[in-house]
Amino acid sequence: CGIIGVLGSHEAAPLLVEGLKRLEYRGYDSAGIATVNDGQLDRRRAVGKLVNLSDLLVHQPLAGKSGIGHTRWATHGAPTVTNAHPHRAGGVAVVHNGIIENFRSLREALSGDGYHQESETDTETVALLLQRERDRGAAPVEAARRTLQQLEGAFALCILFEGEQDLMICARKGSPLAIGRGEGEMFVGSDAIALAPMTDRITYLDEGDWAVITRKGAEIYDAEGNPVSRAETRIQLDA
Ligand code: GLU
Repeated sequence: CGIIGVLGSHEAAPLLVEGLKRLEYRGYDSAGIATVNDGQLDRRRAVGKLVNLSDLLVHQPLAGKSGIGHTRWATHGAPTVTNAHPHRAGGVAVVHNGIIENFRSLREALSGDGYHQESETDTETVALLLQRERDRGAAPVEAARRTLQQLEGAFALCILFEGEQDLMICARKGSPLAIGRGEGEMFVGSDAIALAPMTDRITYLDEGDWAVITRKGAEIYDAEGNPVSRAETRIQLDA
């Protein structure tokens, strides 16, 4: 339901939780964040209000300056910790808004290749697709490109990779997504409100766009894979 992503110059966890708080108005049943720290991917997830995630983070902090976060409004699978985002498969973590319509057939094919889901979600299918491409030798960007081609439905996605502290990949198809630019920092959010404390320089992805984001900026591609440029706007909101 709500997505936030940070490639920052400070600890990401507090920014991720702050961004998620600003997305609470959309409603949600669980929440979670993942970070890459010293190359290691790790995550924390909790059912219920964001305070439950914050409490968990007090006892089990998550370090790292790169991270993604999510507030979930369940469409596939009950609101449990196992079904909460970020979903992880091997060295890949994914947060997702919306629905992957063809996840059942994809999940079956993955299962035949030995990639089994632990959750009931359509989202974990995306994580497994990405990891299968990685296992087949694709670099992160290529793995994302190949995975996105297989997905049907209306969704927004943000992806983080183990060993990649300066990389986030996000995609928009039927569910809005905004990229925010800071000074040597980059952000992603479901909307500009989530990013208001971090930056007012916002670029909205167009329908079908996907983006490769590093701290230097974002390379945006359309659905056919052509590089495109999308206008940056200044959005004045109360931080
Ligand atoms: N379909 C996904 C799920 O049920 C994402 C739902 C959402 O937009 O939060 O986990």
